[in-house]
Amino acid sequence: MLDGKVALVTGGTRGIGLATARALAEAGATVVLTGRDEAKAKEAAAAAGAASGLALDVTDAKAVSTLVRGVAKEHGKLDIVVANAGIMEDALLGMIREELVDTTLSTNVAGTLHTVQAAARAMMRKKTGAIVVLASIVGEHGSAGQTVYAASKAAVANIARSAAKELGRSGIRVNAVAPGVIDTDLTSGLSEDAKAENIGKTPLGRLGTPEDVANAIRFLVSDDASFITGQVLGIDGGLVL
Ligand code: NAD
Repeated sequence: MLDGKVALVTGGTRGIGLATARALAEAGATVVLTGRDEAKAKEAAAAAGAASGLALDVTDAKAVSTLVRGVAKEHGKLDIVVANAGIMEDALLGMIREELVDTTLSTNVAGTLHTVQAAARAMMRKKTGAIVVLASIVGEHGSAGQTVYAASKAAVANIARSAAKELGRSGIRVNAVAPGVIDTDLTSGLSEDAKAENIGKTPLGRLGTPEDVANAIRFLVSDDASFITGQVLGIDGGLVL
């Protein structure tokens, strides 16, 4: 399905990013995954069957640009980029600290933007490519106690919608996935009651797995999705927030 394609996944050391790196590698792509910590990135790359694991903090625009250019140069091209790196910290409105706003927006919004910009530059030469960014059901509908995260993920969805409009004529597709509640380290802080409440509101009656999201991303970056761009695909078991 992805034989001969070169793919980059940010934040690929665990959770959805790791499952995505594995799914793309299993489909035949040459995968480079990144993580903030080089040793963890290398370990994850070996576990996922990826070609390499590199250190990258997506808040550093210059580092993102240099790494993406380097990957494209080393492999001769870059076909697929998954801007997955992201953070989530809950805070009620009255408890929101400036630092939380800064770290969330610089990681989720600016980090995604840097990655999409660098990907577009690398893909422009061949006039083909597929980018997926990680939005969230929370960004589409809002969630009490998650105003900062929700705002950041609404921005991520609109990075996909806008970049898709700008890059379509260059043969580059940009889509977002909007997961519901997926069982990863990011959601490990949820109480059993909160998990049960979410499952109760989910028609498919369970939390999502990283593979549920990875499989949808693998479809979106494949040629099977060649006429799909600018979409925000819910992967949420039908969850109604
Ligand atoms: P996770 O916490 O398990 O993994 C996040 C990854 O991003 C980690 O590898 C982490 O090291 C990396 N990361 C964080 N900040 C980074 C930075 N500045 N530079 C580089 N890497 C960085 O989370 P996950 O559940 O796998 O989430 C992956 C993505 O999916 C995130 O963008 C998240 O917001 C989104 N998402 C998750 C859920 C969910 O329920 N788990 C739901 C909706 C959206």
